[in-house]
Amino acid sequence: MKKLILSLAPLAVLAAVSAAHAQDYPAKDKVVTIVVPFSAGGPTDRVARDLAEAMRKPMGGVSVVVDNAAGAGGSIGANKVAKANPDGYTLLLHHIGMATMPTLVRNIPFKVDSDFEYLGLINEVPMTLIGRPTLPAGNYKALTKWIGENKGKINLGNAGVGSASHLCGLLFQNALKTDMTPVPYKGTGPAMTDLIGGQIDLMCDQTTNTTSQIEAKKVQAYAVTTTKRLGTPALKDLPTLQESGLANFQVTIWHGLYAPKGTPAAVQKKLSDSLKIALKDPEFIKKQEGLGAVVVTDKRMEPAEHKKFVAAEITKWSPIIKAAGVYAD
Ligand code: ASP
Repeated sequence: MKKLILSLAPLAVLAAVSAAHAQDYPAKDKVVTIVVPFSAGGPTDRVARDLAEAMRKPMGGVSVVVDNAAGAGGSIGANKVAKANPDGYTLLLHHIGMATMPTLVRNIPFKVDSDFEYLGLINEVPMTLIGRPTLPAGNYKALTKWIGENKGKINLGNAGVGSASHLCGLLFQNALKTDMTPVPYKGTGPAMTDLIGGQIDLMCDQTTNTTSQIEAKKVQAYAVTTTKRLGTPALKDLPTLQESGLANFQVTIWHGLYAPKGTPAAVQKKLSDSLKIALKDPEFIKKQEGLGAVVVTDKRMEPAEHKKFVAAEITKWSPIIKAAGVYAD
């Protein structure tokens, strides 16, 4: 018995140290880093930068910064956080890829369900199908005709295998029964630059990246991936892909915030409470709405709901991806 008490003592000390650490969290001299698994200047980056700003105050004024750990369709950044010190100073902001990547890509170096603590969902964002400004098709019908006439010659940009643009592009090609040449980038920020410049032909991307470019007529917009048309002024005349003849086509991107597995419970609570406050910040809501994104409802901000939702999305997407045969090795 004495031996057992002795052997448990170090554990008790560890627990006390980690509780004390959690109480001091976040320390004023430390920086909270939100890892974005895609390039700067893209849609996931946009959400993260706005969120970092909104979280600063509820986090007691501590610096909240964004680190773009881009590449491999989002898995480099996610893996970086999965392996990071679980002290609350390294977080991950990721999108639907957390649920689709495990089916889309067979070998990923982290486990979505057991390598992370779930802190809450953030928002939902529609996607838009867009084309280079010089593409000789002014609407969706003309686009499908042009695609039919240019088989084997069309380039489709994406943010790497396993990204949302990759998923959307694969589903689109599958629905049209056509093949396009994928052009992978580390994020759709740099892909957008090339689309505007005419180096690539088409892309499917979140409205948080496309709205201003559509408004400025720097790209052509053909359709939205939601089941209903959108209310945003620049996008309201765009047809849905469903009404354009692609039955059941629906892709909506969502974002969530994660910490590495093993982050102390009190630190997780501070983070999820701060996230909730940030998501109710009128300035944050206004920015999101202006870009066609919708901040989630109170219930969906809860960590347990977030975890449940990701599991449900894996269940939803896995058969769709497999049936379409659109996964990669
Ligand atoms: N929109 C990108 C994707 O396709 C990622 C990004 O750059 O935010 O997943």
